[in-house]
Amino acid sequence: MAQLIDGKAIAAEVRAQAAEKAAALRAKGVEPALAVILVGEDPASKVYVRNKARACKECGIRSEVIRMSETTTQAELLQEIRRVNEDPAIHGLLIQLPLPRHLDEEEALAAVDWKKDVDGFHRMNAGALLNGAPSVLPCTPAGCMELLRRGGVPLDGAEAVVVGRSNIVGKPMALLLMQANCTVTVCHSHTKNLGDVVRRADVVVSAIGKPRFITADMVKEGAAVIDVGINRLPDGSLCGDVDFGPVSEKAGWITPVPGGVGPMTIAMLMMNAVKAAEAHAV
Ligand code: NDP
Repeated sequence: MAQLIDGKAIAAEVRAQAAEKAAALRAKGVEPALAVILVGEDPASKVYVRNKARACKECGIRSEVIRMSETTTQAELLQEIRRVNEDPAIHGLLIQLPLPRHLDEEEALAAVDWKKDVDGFHRMNAGALLNGAPSVLPCTPAGCMELLRRGGVPLDGAEAVVVGRSNIVGKPMALLLMQANCTVTVCHSHTKNLGDVVRRADVVVSAIGKPRFITADMVKEGAAVIDVGINRLPDGSLCGDVDFGPVSEKAGWITPVPGGVGPMTIAMLMMNAVKAAEAHAV
């Protein structure tokens, strides 16, 4: 039976560390502050933004939610990004994704001052990660690494398979696992014999967005399985990409959904926000 890696508990530890750092900054007269730009009315985005604002409050980070209407133009969005970039009292800026379809996400992300890019999505930070230079790490993959490390999963020399190749999860995840000396394979929708590839893995990270896609027959006995997927089932409940019950009988370690990677993403965001404020305070 797999050891459960408790994302909620580990995230609480990370948030407590962020809160300590925030308190130290306040003692120096710096109030860490994060701005979130929310464009439109997407219900899931509203929930995510509310959760981020709540986490900020708990960690002693001032948060400012900038709500813009569904009909915001690209020029208006860019102008707002520039305004926040130039505001010395705000240390971190994130743009809640997805943006309404008429807006250019790439251009918006590139317009964020990379020193304020707490999501780690700016090309400057993505490029630094690729080069192995110090960078702001994207929150979800950084959170997965923290779960693996704090869960005690051996990484050096391990065979790791990442399923999904998005810019925000799959690709940076593969880079971080490579930095941790894993031998990494990345799978995607064109991968042939995906089950055979995943079965080789000591560490599996699934980030595809397909409910219960990773089944027990695809998982090696004793493997660590990190489930990034968040999928809503017809009955309204949430489930991951991994068929949790049967896979947990076979895996060595597993993360649940909810209560696994999700809370870590927010905790790592808090850490990135405090680090951005620390860099400013130097
Ligand atoms: P994207 O849709 O951007 O990427 C999905 C990836 O999965 C793509 O690379 C796609 O391949 C691959 N894929 C899709 N279907 C298959 C398949 N049948 N076999 C193999 N690969 C497949 O998603 P994200 O990376 O943004 O998110 C992935 C999941 O993680 C979602 O469920 C999302 O909700 C969740 N998520 C959770 C977070 C958290 O905090 N827990 C944070 C961010 C995301 P291809 O490139 O070939 O199309």
